Amino acid sequence: MNGAAADRFASSSAAYVHIPFCAAICPYCDYAAAAGRDDLIPRYIDAVVAEIAAAPWRPLDAVCFGGGTPSLLDPAHLGRVVEALDRVHRISPGAEVSLEANPEDFTLDQAEKLRERGFNRVSLGAQSLDAQVLESLGRRHSPESVAESVEAARSAGFGSVSLDLVYGASAESEESWETTLAGALETDPDHVSCYALAVESGIALSRAVDGGAPAPDPGAQADRHERADSILSSAGLLRYEICNWSKPGHESAYNLTVWGRGEYEGYGASAHGHRDGSRFHNVSGLDAYIAAVEARKSPRAGCEPVAGRRSEVDRLLVGLGRSVGVEEGPATAALLRSAEGRRLREAGVLESGSGRLRIAKPLLADAVYRAVIGLPSPIVVGGTDA
Ligand code: SF4
Repeated sequence: MNGAAADRFASSSAAYVHIPFCAAICPYCDYAAAAGRDDLIPRYIDAVVAEIAAAPWRPLDAVCFGGGTPSLLDPAHLGRVVEALDRVHRISPGAEVSLEANPEDFTLDQAEKLRERGFNRVSLGAQSLDAQVLESLGRRHSPESVAESVEAARSAGFGSVSLDLVYGASAESEESWETTLAGALETDPDHVSCYALAVESGIALSRAVDGGAPAPDPGAQADRHERADSILSSAGLLRYEICNWSKPGHESAYNLTVWGRGEYEGYGASAHGHRDGSRFHNVSGLDAYIAAVEARKSPRAGCEPVAGRRSEVDRLLVGLGRSVGVEEGPATAALLRSAEGRRLREAGVLESGSGRLRIAKPLLADAVYRAVIGLPSPIVVGGTDA
């Protein structure tokens, strides 16, 4: 995908639906997820449908159900939300309609029911194909179930299948990571995401590390990331974002909309959106979200205009992770003029040319983001402020 193709997503419209329910909370989880609250599912779905109906918008080019674990729900529940999105906004013909799923839930029967309700892309939370690593991550599925769930998706007619992998668990060795990558490729996925295991404060893994459990080794994680790039690229899956590889044409349209600064609505507890020049987010608690919608109040917890300097910084923060980078503009000029920007360019981390700025060393992306956040305010270019 070239820069012009990626930038076209700036005019895309998408919707994100957060499904917070999970069978159990994994020790490394930092998402807005809840276990043991399944009794609330019908009310939650009613609230999401009501939130959608409250503000008709324009036709959607991509829809993403994330979580949590959307596949934990009865497909009929998810189908009600798809139907509401189509009735209220319209879902464009050929739009990507995607859900995150756990391999243990994703049977052929469930896959077929989801296809009947309009889903055409699935992102399977495989995480690892090593049983010991899966156990250390607190996951409930077996390595074998990953291949079975991919097979179920294919048999049901899903046009795009993605696998999510995590590297850096204490039980993982270099060999087991390579075995995971090889096993993932054997299933012939269209798309693979690889994320570094992170120890965020307040999660069970963080408490375990504080108590003496081994923490992920950043050096080993960097090696695993490089190894993933080498193995996946050799198999024809090309990196199009720091953590995402895809066969040509199977890039995530929803993610490209977010990274390309297209507009997207966010529905459900803790959902985020970007519309009409603002970024907004909903209340994060399941009960608070349901209570707000049932009381006919907006579930929005915050809304921030994205204009001037904030808009330029925002453009870099969301877009620079893409392999194609961003078009040059006031903020890229200011970045390359700053001491840290010059240092990153001399070190080969930042690369500019053909009117674009890109990160040439993805493992050092955090240093670039810190430099972007540290840009002066206002950003002054050619006598005008941004
Ligand atoms: S399944 Fe995913 S969202 Fe749910 S607890 Fe585990 S990591 Fe978190």
